[in-house]
Parts: sequence; structure tokens; C-alpha cells
Amino acid sequence: MTRRRIAAANWKMNTTPGEGAALATQLAEATFDSEMIVAVPATHLDRIGQVFKNQQNIKLAAQNVWYEPKGAYTGEISTAMLLDCGVSYVLVGHSERRQIFGEDSDLLVKKMNAAFEAGLDVIYCCGEPLDARDANQQQYYVNGQLTRELATLPFEYLDRLIIAYEPIWAIGTGRTASPEQAQEMHASIRLFLETTFGAVTAQKTPILYGGSVKPANAKMIFAQADVDGGLVGGASLQSDSFVEIANSFSS
Ligand code: PEP
Repeated sequence: MTRRRIAAANWKMNTTPGEGAALATQLAEATFDSEMIVAVPATHLDRIGQVFKNQQNIKLAAQNVWYEPKGAYTGEISTAMLLDCGVSYVLVGHSERRQIFGEDSDLLVKKMNAAFEAGLDVIYCCGEPLDARDANQQQYYVNGQLTRELATLPFEYLDRLIIAYEPIWAIGTGRTASPEQAQEMHASIRLFLETTFGAVTAQKTPILYGGSVKPANAKMIFAQADVDGGLVGGASLQSDSFVEIANSFSS
């Protein structure tokens, strides 16, 4: 089975809407040979949805969603609002949402189910903190996240799931997991998928690596057997570096 090859950008809380539109336009005009997904701030969605409207290989992602369809949830964004802006994907479980905003497993499951039910695809993020890695407990830690947050996912949604493994100690730190460390965890996540959902789901679910991916290290990481691409923060804020990352898959 041929795997998808995905370069996903997470702009986090960076760029103004005008700067974001300019960056999105540069990406839309670029040449690359993988799928591109770009997660932009909520204020940019409508405008960048227009920029990506007729693009085959670039899809728009939101960085957050609320699980109720509408109502008294000040500051939150519904699935219908995202869809109306041209959003195809939503990030759920990013470590910054877990750590800074206190999002727990119950909330993440509700968000994922609401997103899938509305027709959005999900990029589900998992990954261990430094103390778990230092204690060599990283597989145990990530397996716990997957068991709590993915194991009950209805079968019909699995086709629209992308997993991003992002060791927290490597996010925005300049410290990257070695290609071997990434491969070891990706193989373990694929094994979880196989035991929980079967071999077909395990093979076709894309598993991205995230954590200080740059043009200089993307090729080595993407060359690993179970790495299907990257979720990229800092290096996605310049179109040339992100396009170079998107062109780092071996042919
Ligand atoms: C991220 O935001 O998901 C991320 C991996 O950031 P960075 O590439 O900057 O480490």
C-alpha cells in the first residue's frame, strides 16, 4: 500500500492576517511533490480559504475547534464556522493546547468526534515530555495517550485520521528526535493501530513527525519507514524553507 506523503504547517499564533495571506499565496504558487496542509490562526481562515480554494495539493487547517455546534461558548469556534471558511482539517491534542490550556483526554475525544461528525479530518497530536523520555518511558506514555484518546474512535472515522508524533522536548527547542528515535516511536504507534483497528488501518493511517523539523533534517527523518511526513512549526513560517521540507521525500 502506498502511503500518503504530507507536509503540515502549524503557524501557531504568528503572522498578521495580511502577512499570512502573503505567505499562503507564496505556497499556492510553489511547486512541491507532497500533500501540504497549513494550520493558520483563526483570524486568517476565511481569507486563506479563498487563497487555497482551487488548490489540489494544499488544504487549510484550523488549530482549534469546540465540540458543541453553537451557543454560549465565548471565544470558541464551531465546526460549521470552520467549514464555511474552507477548512478541511483541524489539529487536536497539540501539546501547547494540553499544557497551556489544560485540555485533557475527555475534551480531546469530544473535539475529535465533533470534528469527524461534521466532515472535518483530524490531525491528532501525541508525544511525551522530557521526563518520560529521560526515564525511557516514552512508549508507555504515548501508548497511554493513544489508548485513552483514540481507542474508542468509531471505525467509520479512521480514514480521516492523521497522527502527529511530537515529542514535547523537541517542539520549538531546536532539539530534534534522531531519525532512529522517530522511527522507533512511529513503529510503536503503528503497532497500536494494528492491534486496535487492524492491519489495513495501521498501514494507511499517516503518521507525521513534529519537533524542530527543518530543511536540514527533513530528508533523514522522512526517509524512515514509518514516517509519512512532518508537522512543522517554526520552519513553516518562511515559504522557501517549508517548500524545501515538502520536497524532502525520497522519490
Ligand atoms: C509544532 O508546532 O507542532 C512544532 C513541531 O513546532 P516546531 O517545528 O517549531 O518544533
